[in-house]
Amino acid sequence: MQRYQNYILGQWVDGTGVETPLFNALTGAQFGEVSSLGIDFSEVLDYGRSHGSALRKMTFQERGRMLKALALYLLERKEKYYQASAWTGATKIDSWIDIEGGIGNLFANASLRRQFPDLPYYVDGVAAPLSKNGTFIGHHIMVPKEGVAIHINAFNFPIWGMLEKIAVNLMAGVPAVVKPSEYTCFLTEVMVRDIIDSKILPEGSLQLVCGLGRGLLDSVDSRDTITFTGSATTGKQLQSLPQIAAQSVSFNLEADSLNATILGQSATPGTEEFELFVKECVKEMTVKAGQKCTAVRRIMVPESLLDDVQSAIVARLAGIKLGDPSVEGVRMGALATKLQVERVGASVAELAKSQQIVFGDLVDFEVLGASKVDGAFYPPVLFRNENPFEARAVHEIEAFGPVATIMPYKDMPQAIELAKMGKGSLVSSIVTPNNNEAIEYVMGAASMHGRILVLNKDCAKESTGHGSPMPLLTHGGPGRAGGGEEMGGKRGVLHYLQRTAIQGHPSTITAITQQFQVGAAMPEAEPHVFRKHFEQLVVGETVFTHKHTVTDADIVNFANVSGDNFYAHMDATSLEGTIFERRVAHGYFILSKAAGLFVDPKKGPVLLNYGIEEARFTKPVYPGATIGVRFTVKEKVDQEKRSPDDIAKGIVKFLVDVYDETGETVALATILTMVKKLNQEE
Ligand code: NAP
Repeated sequence: MQRYQNYILGQWVDGTGVETPLFNALTGAQFGEVSSLGIDFSEVLDYGRSHGSALRKMTFQERGRMLKALALYLLERKEKYYQASAWTGATKIDSWIDIEGGIGNLFANASLRRQFPDLPYYVDGVAAPLSKNGTFIGHHIMVPKEGVAIHINAFNFPIWGMLEKIAVNLMAGVPAVVKPSEYTCFLTEVMVRDIIDSKILPEGSLQLVCGLGRGLLDSVDSRDTITFTGSATTGKQLQSLPQIAAQSVSFNLEADSLNATILGQSATPGTEEFELFVKECVKEMTVKAGQKCTAVRRIMVPESLLDDVQSAIVARLAGIKLGDPSVEGVRMGALATKLQVERVGASVAELAKSQQIVFGDLVDFEVLGASKVDGAFYPPVLFRNENPFEARAVHEIEAFGPVATIMPYKDMPQAIELAKMGKGSLVSSIVTPNNNEAIEYVMGAASMHGRILVLNKDCAKESTGHGSPMPLLTHGGPGRAGGGEEMGGKRGVLHYLQRTAIQGHPSTITAITQQFQVGAAMPEAEPHVFRKHFEQLVVGETVFTHKHTVTDADIVNFANVSGDNFYAHMDATSLEGTIFERRVAHGYFILSKAAGLFVDPKKGPVLLNYGIEEARFTKPVYPGATIGVRFTVKEKVDQEKRSPDDIAKGIVKFLVDVYDETGETVALATILTMVKKLNQEE
């Protein structure tokens, strides 16, 4: 019997006794057991906290590269995870969502590094001027919290559930303790063994508690962050633990939700959208055997189309073969455990008190290549609810399996009201060729939903579907769905950071943020900044250029070169009613001329200029004005080599401040350059 273990305090540890026997969902055969009994969870949390400094010291760029290396490492070993995943009753597609979807999350979070500075902490927003003379300013930094991220996950995505969460806390520089569900923790364990063996993460960054893990939250404190994914009942129970309120521990709750999909009134039979709707409903009911928190539970259709939609869904469901996914033709696997069969059965029985089953025989269904008695199989079930405003169980009870209910609506306001009767959902979708219908639904339903998919024939081919959360979006769901915010995009990373307002002289704030702040010291660069390599450049050092007096000829020449003959530049007689007093120089000329002033032309460490950000023309420049440039190192971002023979380089952002003879700024921009590092062959 395989004993699955816990990875804690730097070693693989067996709990005492047996908390949970583990069964193959297809055959019912026991293949393993697991226990977390005897583990001192306060030691586990302390170990994570005391080992967090290695991650905290790394910059966001280093952490991002670490995640990418980990993703590549795991991808090479994916076949192993598919084998273990099959024991959960999953089909190849189900496993793909869990395994490669999870690894995809690591990649997506690794790419987020480009939105963060090359520092261990984040600099948030722009400086706030707090004084008349500019010697006192404020800014915000966000530093990694010094606790641990504790992830309690549901049974249905043992890999994705872990990876989507740890990708975010690791990116933020915070270690994790992962507690998967006791029933599917074996799959998480198989992957964590590889993660630990890879030595890609600093020791202490990831601990794994398999088995029940009861008591894990007993010693949390204000430095920690808890994320819970599971049923609303368990979630609420854990969230209301006294130590969580007493210590103000951050608790992100992602619970079950009764997700609705709407068929738009314009999507009549014969339209591509009608077909898409039917396919999407069946997919949502059968992928992962309906064990997805985002799966469609409530299907809302215009009342005149209720029979058409029902027949179309039933026809498709009739073609879904249930059984061992390795058998040819099988489209739906088993539920994860026999316990789930019982739970889904109980919810279906409850729902059946107020609505009618129109597809699915709970007793007489066929299972191909596996045992109907020993395996955890449950057939797809479609309910019909004629009076969804009166028979309300459908808006209350989640059958976490291949179960959905079709119901009618009269008009869009009714569809919106019905969708909202779920009391807050992770996701909803509307399938319609009509954008006006889509607008009405989205505007009416958005306040009660974390995500809304609008599906039509134009986006269908590339659409990721109703059920898939995307790592680059920010997810969550209000109300019943937990009110949390599933880690998504840059914003997810910020959950693990503490924002601190800092105040001081601009030079001090420049030194702390490693971003040049207006008003800070600007020591003259010697030699010119274009003669220096990446490592030699210091934030704040400045080139003060020679000057140029703008002429009419400059304007005419620039108009000829660019073809920009806008009247304000070319026709002095047309300026009445404009803000201009005379022919004005092109803003682009001012910036181009600025480049002529600040560039040191000889070949050197600057490889290229790849863009301009935040360009502004702040004051009109007329012929006769004399301009000069203050050209300042604003920020440096280290870059990795794409290949061994790549040139080692970094990104340097320069502030271009063009001023006139009065000293006033006339144009501002940030230019982006790539600058070679030292000690490479020229
Ligand atoms: P569950 O019974 O609520 O359990 C969720 C997790 O909490 C499991 O890891 C469970 O461990 C753990 N847990 C329970 N009591 C605990 C305690 N006292 N201390 C520490 N951990 C404790 O949910 P489930 O049956 O695994 O998952 C199905 C539910 O999750 C469905 O309702 C589904 O809608 C929801 N879900 C939501 C999302 C989302 O993102 N919103 C995603 C997936 C699933 P054990 O399993 O070891 O008891």
